[in-house]
Amino acid sequence: MAAPPAIDVDGLRVVRGGRVVLDALSLAVPAGTVTGLLGPSGSGKSTLLRAIVGVQVVEGGTVTVLGLPAGSAGLRARVAYATQAASVYDDLSVHENLAYFAAVLGTPAAGDVERVLREVGLTGEAGDVVGRLSGGQRSRVSLAVALLGAPELLVLDEPTVGLDPLLRAELWDLFHRLAGSGKTLLVSSHVMDEATRCDDLVLLRDGAVLARATPAELLARTGAADAEEAFLRLVRTAP
Ligand code: ADP
Ligand code: MG
Repeated sequence: MAAPPAIDVDGLRVVRGGRVVLDALSLAVPAGTVTGLLGPSGSGKSTLLRAIVGVQVVEGGTVTVLGLPAGSAGLRARVAYATQAASVYDDLSVHENLAYFAAVLGTPAAGDVERVLREVGLTGEAGDVVGRLSGGQRSRVSLAVALLGAPELLVLDEPTVGLDPLLRAELWDLFHRLAGSGKTLLVSSHVMDEATRCDDLVLLRDGAVLARATPAELLARTGAADAEEAFLRLVRTAP
């Protein structure tokens, strides 16, 4: 029997500001993979991630995460979420932020803060006040918060946006190491060329799943040379 998916979305409908943002969206994300949620700005990526972590009011459908309804109390320590805008305290140092969130999450294990600092490459900035960091460094602090403890599912909203190419490559390597240790990662991006970094892809357009494929399948199916062209071809041939 196949392992149950880490995320199972069925018939999801979300209305925001009087507009239907997601409609009849169904999606399964296998455990132990890095799945990319790719789509242009406004396609509904953040809204879908919010529904998966259980902070989005939904009109209809079901969202099941690690076998439980999204947002269940039992998922608190098992699911980590990094929002698109870094949600860390500007007037605390990097280390102070992490120590604070570790305490809030109830995971103040010795060495955990140092581990996540190493994973995101911020050991040298541990003592720096977050408000004085660059945008890329700030988003790495919020990624570090998401890595605290031992979440089984990491939901990361555009974690690599605004980072330099080297750092981006390092973070994707980190995501794959985490998946290799059995974690599931759902990572959004509006940058289509990040598709090649993922095990599996969800292409989102206007609140609907345009395609669900591995990067290789996507290129084979569309005959495109890269993910951006594949996306355009799918859009042009969509009903
Ligand atoms: P993405 O993350 O792909 O850029 P979002 O999920 O943020 O897309 O947005 C999807 C749609 O929902 C957009 O049309 C956006 O304008 C709308 N939307 C997002 N946030 C809100 C909000 N707080 N109130 C009303 N509409 C919103
Ligand atoms: Mg977004």
